[in-house]
Amino acid sequence: MPGFELFGEAERKEVNDVLDNGVLMRYGFDGMRNGHWKAKELESELQITFQSKHVQLVSSGTAAVSVALASAGVGAGDEVIMPTFTFVASFEAIMMLGAIPVLVDIDDTLGLDPIAVKDAITSKTKAVMVVQMCGSMANMDGLQTICNAHNVLLIEDACQAIGGTYKGKPLGSIGDLGCFSFDFVKTITCGEGGAVITNNKKYYINADHYSDHGHDHIGNDRGAEAHPFLGYNFRISELHSAVGLAQVKRLPEFLEIQKKNFNILKDALSEIPEVTFRCVPDGGVESCAFLNFFLTDLDTTRKVIQGFKEEGVDACWNYFDNSWHYIRKWDHLKNQNSLYPISKEVKEGLKYLQTKTFKQSDHYIGRNISCLIKLSWTEIEVKERANKMVKIIKSKIK
Ligand SMILES: *Cc1c(COP(=O)(O)O)cnc(C)c1O
Repeated sequence: MPGFELFGEAERKEVNDVLDNGVLMRYGFDGMRNGHWKAKELESELQITFQSKHVQLVSSGTAAVSVALASAGVGAGDEVIMPTFTFVASFEAIMMLGAIPVLVDIDDTLGLDPIAVKDAITSKTKAVMVVQMCGSMANMDGLQTICNAHNVLLIEDACQAIGGTYKGKPLGSIGDLGCFSFDFVKTITCGEGGAVITNNKKYYINADHYSDHGHDHIGNDRGAEAHPFLGYNFRISELHSAVGLAQVKRLPEFLEIQKKNFNILKDALSEIPEVTFRCVPDGGVESCAFLNFFLTDLDTTRKVIQGFKEEGVDACWNYFDNSWHYIRKWDHLKNQNSLYPISKEVKEGLKYLQTKTFKQSDHYIGRNISCLIKLSWTEIEVKERANKMVKIIKSKIK
């Protein structure tokens, strides 16, 4: 997945453009820029890549989720449904706005289970946040139907699925708003950065203003701009945008390499009858940033992971015991360990996490192995890796 593996001349050139005139900020300083508007250029490129009318770059993927929710009016006391398997950023971004994360089970897509979502909807539910984990997607038609029926927003976190599609549409472009991360380990990187995409002009204008202290960006005198509403600073810099601009132009090349490496590994593992693959919904095309498969039980899965470690097969994880991506190890959330007081509503709203169990998620995550697909592997390296993986898995199956 990580675009940084292939840094080169293109990235250097774009960054040097910015350093040559010294304007590191994306807004203002029109006279000094010599025509360089890297953030604006990157937004235009991303409009094409993600087939979306509007793109707002921000400082991170986490910021993108907060900005997306804020732009659609989600805030204090609202409930946002999210999956048990995601990145900690999901609940952080929701709680930053004083909203309440409502965690629900995933299914064999490794994304939100539409039935679990339906069961979790209350009169307080404002949005469903689907997270397209590990290069693939949840059952989007199922989720869209439920969101439409209950008149709640569908927000898509496609941070890990840059380049994947569903029924011909880029992941991230299907919901009311989509969120991307361009942090250092994503398929294309800015170093740090993120984007909110939408076809809704009002949400876009809200995102544009909110991510820059509420500035209305009218005219060319920043100091004289009005603030129609409160905002914050989630701006991206020109330096970060410059890196992203070089990277986005290389996305087709990156996706091609991912697909090739993914298929070599998948073909090899397909020969083991006990191995099954994550379900990709009809009409879905994975970005191939990760290969995800299931084994028969947690014990075997742990042994295989141990075998991978011993034999030097890196970048493969079982998320059951992982503190970044799965509910089981989020004690800081369950115990509400906060530096500052949390609102009464959120405190109350999170109490369910003390007792709630997620058996269905455990069933899938406990047996899942997720392998990062690197861009820098040679074909020989991928084939050797595939052979090693097959041998280890076979040796650990009872
Ligand atoms: C990386 C990631 C984020 C957050 O992105 P940052 O840019 O690191 O803040 C959010 N959601 C998912 C699913 C991610 O993988």
